[in-house]
Amino acid sequence: MQDREIASLTVEELKKLMLEMGEKEFRGEQIFHWIHGKRTVAFDEMTNLPGELREKLKASFDCNLVSLEQKYISKIDKTIKYLFRLKDNNIIESVLMSYNYGNSACISSQVGCRMGCAFCASTLEGLIRNLSAGEMAGQIYQIEKDSNRKISNIVIMGAGEPLDNYDNILKFISIINHPKGANIGQRHITLSTCGLVDKIYDLADKNLQITLAISLHAPNDRIRQEIMPIAKRYYMDELLKACSYYIEKTHRRITFEYALINQVNDREEHAYELADKLKALLCHVNLIPMNPVKESHYRESHQERINYFKKILESKGIQTTIRRRLGSDIDAACGQLRRRYLEGNGVGK
Ligand code: SAH
Repeated sequence: MQDREIASLTVEELKKLMLEMGEKEFRGEQIFHWIHGKRTVAFDEMTNLPGELREKLKASFDCNLVSLEQKYISKIDKTIKYLFRLKDNNIIESVLMSYNYGNSACISSQVGCRMGCAFCASTLEGLIRNLSAGEMAGQIYQIEKDSNRKISNIVIMGAGEPLDNYDNILKFISIINHPKGANIGQRHITLSTCGLVDKIYDLADKNLQITLAISLHAPNDRIRQEIMPIAKRYYMDELLKACSYYIEKTHRRITFEYALINQVNDREEHAYELADKLKALLCHVNLIPMNPVKESHYRESHQERINYFKKILESKGIQTTIRRRLGSDIDAACGQLRRRYLEGNGVGK
């Protein structure tokens, strides 16, 4: 029992655990509500549980999976970047962004990443380990606790490839969405993937209402393969076919993320080629000004090029937005904050 993380268990699993422990089944729901509804990390505060059960829980479990290590507050807007420490001392990063419609948390799904995208800092040292559902939820709860702001939207766009940690991601979504827990609606959750095609089919069949974001970043296989190793495993045709299936099944619009990299994927002909590939899909393109990573030679596109790219896509009927740069004064490309921190502490290379 000790090796199970109580904060990673769904209501059903908690009920089962209670039966295994010789307790009444409904205690599972109470514990779930304490951990995920009231965000309690101390069993002693779970006052409607019998004292004896609280002692047993204390002896076997720890709900405090994520603790605040460091934070960086933007002076320009209300963006806060967090570094959190996990129980095994790994460090992860999350971001809190405030919009007029609410507060959005960007969370990590893995420590490191094994996808190897050429422009991304999270993947430079490969995958260290998957995060558990409780560690993903813990990022949200710690952000809320520290900032005193309620999170209404979640983007799984921090370090890691969520579909490479598939079972834990599904559990996390079910936990965070549960009415007795944080009760964050599926439509307020966005999952971003570099495009693990088999998992996209699987996810479509789960019929969730989450928003799927695909990191496309290229108009064709040649360019995509140059910057994203996953493109050698799944061709763009296959990826877009899986996206059509997802749309057909869920009736949800897909977001395609496209980071504009100077002279690599930002030319006029690339915009036309992309528009042609996407025109039949219920989708939206989010153009991302690339964040330069010091270890890579890729650089961001000029703003005029980004605007021009958008104009072409729109002229072809593709809805397009340019991602706002929040917290630009504390900006560090995906995974860079953690990297710098580890380097500064003599931990990284
Ligand atoms: N692995 C998932 C989610 C994490 S990355 C994915 O690939 O979608 C979140 C987004 O940031 C992805 O679109 C990713 O391609 C993008 N990204 C990574 N490094 C970046 C950089 N240096 N500049 C701009 N976007 C970057």
